[in-house]
Amino acid sequence: MSDSASRFPSRKLRYYTLRNIEKHRLWNSIPAETREAIRVVGQVLPFRVNDYVLDQLIDWSAIPDDPIYRLVFPQPGMLSDGDYRRVAEALQRHAPADELKRVVHEIRQTLNPNPAGQMELNVPLVEGNPIPGIQHKYHETVLFFPSAGQTCHAYCTFCFRWPQFVGESDYRFAARETDDLVAYLAGQPQVSDVLVTGGDPLVMSTDVLRRYLQPLLDAKPEWPSTIRIGSKALAYWPARFVTDADADDLLRFFEEIVASGRNLAFMAHFNHYTELSTPIVLEAIRRIRSTGAMIRTQSPVVRHINDSAEVWRRLWSESIKHGMVPYYMFVERDTGARNYFSLPLARAWEIFREAASGVSGLARTVRGPSMSTTAGKVEILGPAYIGEERVLVLRFLQGRNPEWTYRPFFAHYDEEATWLSELKPAQNAERFFFEDELQSMIDSDNR
Ligand SMILES: *Cc1c(COP(=O)(O)O)cnc(C)c1O
Ligand code: SF4
Repeated sequence: MSDSASRFPSRKLRYYTLRNIEKHRLWNSIPAETREAIRVVGQVLPFRVNDYVLDQLIDWSAIPDDPIYRLVFPQPGMLSDGDYRRVAEALQRHAPADELKRVVHEIRQTLNPNPAGQMELNVPLVEGNPIPGIQHKYHETVLFFPSAGQTCHAYCTFCFRWPQFVGESDYRFAARETDDLVAYLAGQPQVSDVLVTGGDPLVMSTDVLRRYLQPLLDAKPEWPSTIRIGSKALAYWPARFVTDADADDLLRFFEEIVASGRNLAFMAHFNHYTELSTPIVLEAIRRIRSTGAMIRTQSPVVRHINDSAEVWRRLWSESIKHGMVPYYMFVERDTGARNYFSLPLARAWEIFREAASGVSGLARTVRGPSMSTTAGKVEILGPAYIGEERVLVLRFLQGRNPEWTYRPFFAHYDEEATWLSELKPAQNAERFFFEDELQSMIDSDNR
């Protein structure tokens, strides 16, 4: 496999953050007021990028509108005017470090750092003790967060896990080893999928990744039947699969998982077709597929970055062309700089419908704009009428109660709503059909 790698010069992964971005040769090509905005917003929200993204993905002649630039560089509109001025003012007068820290912390607390009850709900117990590093919300699929995989090769400005990258959450999700996972799964025979996630688990070396996963693979033959790896490394650091020192070993590990009789599902996070435009990412895709792994693609729909049907149409058709299966379009979660990034549910659905109308059926595997809410994953099926009332039709793709799966339900049409919580039930109903049951599940879970 290394022969293909020799076509690509090996690159060292170099990160840039607020601390050293000024040393990058491109820094001075950014207009001065934009540089200030990066420094101000970057105090509050995470910022990390690398040479590959800077040199090969961003079109510097198109900044500040370039979508990849907006994907990784803090944007002035990500903070409210008042918050922005507070931070800018503190920086200008060189406020003492602990004052700046307090201002920043206060602002972060107003950005809903813990959406959808992730911390309280979904963490399984063994003998009454919560198991760190595991989330189990839907029967068949368990999420596993190895502690060594809780960063990324670059940070997305819209990321819903932003609190963990700025030290506002204590990585309570993160697992140090796999023993707890194996012990927990022993009592969960209905689980078919273990989804390894982060951050990005592929920031780990292959050795470390093996250390986490091998005990699970050894515990029982051919079970769990699917290992999913959620990663943005194809977009942010494709060298991981081509020229990194342990790239070949990573692919060998993928082959071993497949040879063990399991399905290896690579859940690739791509936001924009530009991320599919370099020779090395295409080589990385080819190499991953050659191991027998299946790549699926997913992304949130995000204002200022990919809120156009044409972007999605190209993203999906190019995914298909390179042998990847479009899987999810997500709705941006209700956290962080969502005022800047979110768009109305009705608009997200229009983008989805229009993009889908321009691709063949092979790309229409993708599930429409979906919200990961406390109740479950809710897909927007689109607007319709019940008699005279305009409604938005929704359904659960995953429910906290599996009985909710695929049940359509109706909200009163609201052109502005950006999240399920802003929608009201149609027909003047008091509540959506699942709400009483959800509340009693939450109450019984409050331990
Ligand atoms: C999306 C998600 C899953 C996986 O759902 P699929 O529809 O099987 O892809 C599992 N757990 C959580 C918490 C999720 O948000
Ligand atoms: S790759 Fe995923 S976890 Fe990492 S910053 Fe982007 S959205 Fe967040």
